[in-house]
Amino acid sequence: MLLGAPGSGKGTQAEMITRHFAISVTSPGTILRRERDLGTPLGVEADKISKQGGLVPDDVIVHLIEEWLNLHGKEGFVFDGFPRTVTQAERLNDLLEKLDTALDLAIWLEVSEETVRDRIASRLQCRRCGFTTSVTSASFADRPVCPYCDGPLIRREDDDTSVLQKRLAEFKSKTEPLLSFYEKGDTLHRIDGNRDREAVFADISALIEQRSK
Ligand code: ADP
Repeated sequence: MLLGAPGSGKGTQAEMITRHFAISVTSPGTILRRERDLGTPLGVEADKISKQGGLVPDDVIVHLIEEWLNLHGKEGFVFDGFPRTVTQAERLNDLLEKLDTALDLAIWLEVSEETVRDRIASRLQCRRCGFTTSVTSASFADRPVCPYCDGPLIRREDDDTSVLQKRLAEFKSKTEPLLSFYEKGDTLHRIDGNRDREAVFADISALIEQRSK
């Protein structure tokens, strides 16, 4: 699982893992944005919360993950941005136990507040598939179209500086306690996420390769 603050690069690293190792990724943020685009009651409700920088209730998120695991849990998988609260982590342990499996790795991407602010201020995301890039990337400056699915590359509404304050506060109070939760086992690895995506991915790949030996 990949954990970290908003803008830590979890989503990008998750994409790189899928492409390189062909492991499926599930991200509640991506599922919720898809539901919003489909206009489902779940998507509409969650969007109100996300737009204000809040976390969606644990029961809703755990239910999404449970459904996903029931379909795909037999193969390897990566969680991007889940769990984000200690309650979610405890409920995940119960789900994994039922499936007779366990977590191999919990990767914590450590980023400074400066990195978060810079990345969020320039983030562009594909509305269709979630591919993430930056407005500073020359290849997308003039033609903001996703190189993978041709969807539109847009700024996310919750990537606004005032909303970011709330997201960071939620991260500190609800997500950071997961560090001590996972430090109790031997699954947690901290990686410096302030570096470029290739350097971070090299460290993550080494961990995955070690575990799959
Ligand atoms: P980021 O890491 O940039 O905040 P995500 O795409 O992971 O972006 O999440 C977007 C929003 O979706 C979050 O701000 C939150 O409202 C909601 N969300 C995603 N994952 C969770 C989760 N595990 N628990 C609660 N809410 C979540």
